[in-house]
Amino acid sequence: MKYQVEASELSYLTSIMRIGDSKMPVVLKIQSKVLKTMTDILLGKGFQWILPVILAKSTDPLWPDPGYSIEDRIEVEVYGTRVKTMQSMIVHKRVLVSLGPEKIFILSPNIRIESRKRMITGKHLYEFTQLDLEVAYAKMKDIFTLFEELIVKSIEVIKKEMREELELLSRDLRIPTAPFRVYKRAELEKEYGDSWEEEISRTSKDPVWVTDIPRQFYDFQDFETGEWRNYDLILPEGYGEVLSGAEREYEYEKILKKIERDGLRKDDYRLILDLAEKKLLKPSAGAGIGVERFIQYICGLKHIGEVQPFPRIPGIVPDL
Ligand code: ATP
Ligand code: ASP
Ligand code: MG
Repeated sequence: MKYQVEASELSYLTSIMRIGDSKMPVVLKIQSKVLKTMTDILLGKGFQWILPVILAKSTDPLWPDPGYSIEDRIEVEVYGTRVKTMQSMIVHKRVLVSLGPEKIFILSPNIRIESRKRMITGKHLYEFTQLDLEVAYAKMKDIFTLFEELIVKSIEVIKKEMREELELLSRDLRIPTAPFRVYKRAELEKEYGDSWEEEISRTSKDPVWVTDIPRQFYDFQDFETGEWRNYDLILPEGYGEVLSGAEREYEYEKILKKIERDGLRKDDYRLILDLAEKKLLKPSAGAGIGVERFIQYICGLKHIGEVQPFPRIPGIVPDL
């Protein structure tokens, strides 16, 4: 992978002295501007900004997913009840858009104890933030259009208002043209084999959508054709995946069957199953974009840890 780094390069990244580096304030300034641009657009479209949940009985199983590589799951007991740290707020998003506001977003911190082998991928952290959103009754295409606007506008604003900062980072950033191309995962696999994500990322000029990827139970699958109505967004220049999302399952029987198929504990998803059984779980679609991965791309950085003042690189626990 293009952004693979040497383990020896990581010690400076996690040293506290890096905070005094001239790059760090520039990266954080760009991140603030991108977050302002994206949240302003969403608020302008009538989304409700929800604050995150960290400890919960139910979280994203992250399983089955082709890229699964979790080496530990954090569970603690609070008030006599076992809770997990948040891996993604998918279950909470589904429940909230079904019972409350129908358009929501969250800047959601996720804790995923990724395999320590991933310290050198350049794109994994064990604490990161998704700008995670969900819209009741939305379809795949609606989410494509929404994220295309968020991404193109953010890049336009950075190019226009942060020219000096981009120069300091020696970053020649291209404004992508929407709509982005859409590929099916199977056609990419046929052309490139298992390394389709790296290959399409390396060869595309603009971000591309990839659909129909077998994974967690909550993404919609057409049981007749086997097709999954889900998607990833792949960034160019070798940066790879930056977003995952889907149209969602909402029928009780299907959700139950898939939870059993995946070997998950039904009890962990009781609330969502109960709502589905009562026909209260609304169809929806959504996605989460990895904030640090998107900023890494905008800034043209080699390792995602360069986006965080206090990097959370798999396998490394710094002083702060
Ligand atoms: P990957 O296959 O690249 O490890 P994933 O498919 O497991 O990622 P998702 O569960 O789809 O990740 O999470 C949604 C988004 O959150 C990803 O598209 C990515 O931008 C971001 N993300 C996921 N895992 C990490 C991580 N360990 N570090 C930084 N960002 C992450
Ligand atoms: N945020 C993703 C989604 O909305 C779930 C994930 O984190 O994998 O589908
Ligand atoms: Mg993904």
